[in-house]
Amino acid sequence: MMRSMKLSNFPIMLAFLFTLAILSIAPLSTPAWCADSPAIATVLASPPAADLGMSTKCAYCGMKLYVKKDTPSAEYAGKHYYFCDKSERDAFIAHPEKYLHQAANK
Ligand SMILES: [Zn+2]
Repeated sequence: MMRSMKLSNFPIMLAFLFTLAILSIAPLSTPAWCADSPAIATVLASPPAADLGMSTKCAYCGMKLYVKKDTPSAEYAGKHYYFCDKSERDAFIAHPEKYLHQAANK
């Protein structure tokens, strides 16, 4: 009696273990921020002419700024981001998802 019950449970146990294995591997292979946008942030040589004079916020610290010809800028997932200075831009490029999440929480 016990033996037959264990056998009938075996496929369920196997499915359960398989699901656990997938769940434990998934966060390593596909980070949440990566699923939507596997893009890499890149430095823009200069802001596009269309963005000049535009009022925006520094994507690193959230400070309000106006886009000028020499405003440090970056492109990430098809969008343009602007920064107070180059060191902030470089920090953003290293971990764009981190600063975008911070900005979203503000
Ligand atoms: Zn800033």
